[in-house]
Amino acid sequence: MRALETDALDGLLVTSRANIRYLTGFSGSAAVVAVTRADVLLVTDFRYDEQARAEAGPVARVEVESTSVWDRFFKELATLGPLDAMGYEAHSVSVHDAGRFAEAGKAWRWTPTTELVERLRAAKDDVEVVAIRNAALLAGEAFHQTLGEVRAGMTELAIAGLLEGALRRLGSEGHPFPTIVASGPRSALPHARSSTRTVAAGEWLLLDFGAQVDGYCADLTRTVVVGARATERQRVLYELVRDAQQRARTAVRAGMTGRDADALAREPIAARGFGAAFGHSLGHGLGLEVHEAPRLSKTNTDPLPAGAVVTIEPGVYLAGDGGVRIEDDVHLPAGERGAELLSDGLTDLLELV
Ligand code: ZN
Ligand code: ZN
Repeated sequence: MRALETDALDGLLVTSRANIRYLTGFSGSAAVVAVTRADVLLVTDFRYDEQARAEAGPVARVEVESTSVWDRFFKELATLGPLDAMGYEAHSVSVHDAGRFAEAGKAWRWTPTTELVERLRAAKDDVEVVAIRNAALLAGEAFHQTLGEVRAGMTELAIAGLLEGALRRLGSEGHPFPTIVASGPRSALPHARSSTRTVAAGEWLLLDFGAQVDGYCADLTRTVVVGARATERQRVLYELVRDAQQRARTAVRAGMTGRDADALAREPIAARGFGAAFGHSLGHGLGLEVHEAPRLSKTNTDPLPAGAVVTIEPGVYLAGDGGVRIEDDVHLPAGERGAELLSDGLTDLLELV
């Protein structure tokens, strides 16, 4: 693993579940992994004996322990080597687990690292892009199947239930985050939770939902009008967000800074006087986790890596009134090819009448 050389490490202790899956293929919930320049070691407990051997066996030395995974890990680590400088993932190790280094880990020099594997994960290969596209298309299909059943008078939770059922029936492995269904004035809460509120005719209905295929996540948002034609005011607000989203998802490129990407949607919204109502960043990376590197935000001055898959999700929120957010998923290939839309991109205003 070349990233180790850059950081002058002999090895890395990997504890983040998503990073373990990325490096070894193991999808279980409990394992400790060491990656050195020559070896990959995975220690898990007896529940995952078969699964770990099947998933990680081709790339890792798999050890199964029935009493203490950590004690066994340090014992096995001592057989790899010689190793001196070992990194650990500062963002995923608990204070409790870090205490173990002081005890059983005395033989190594431990250095905190941040986002070492996450940086590798940001650039997706073809297999990963296909999984995300499949998840995104599945999510879009679930949304369209659900729309036919949505009526004024239903609660947000009931609508979330219909959508989650459709996602599952179509093959989503799970819900990468709690489905957001927000109606009327609640659509102005950028991260509302679905509630028992009943949606009334003529109101906004905002749905933000995910799907997961082969471990990879998609993340979509659609905003529709329920039970009536949109008012002129609703139409103007919707078209503003839609135009900004379209501009950003077409023009975003690898190599552009996160800040410049964010500006693609922020500028037209601000030019129309709604800058303050777009209070979050434009998007985030997608992969084994639903929020990962890179960030498309005002504060990210790093270039977006080639191969990244990101969301494009501008929103305008008018407190007490309502909000519109539209979110699609795009791949940023290397070279001159433009952004590749992975989700269906069907963002014409829908009026469920
Ligand atoms: Zn979302
Ligand atoms: Zn998102």
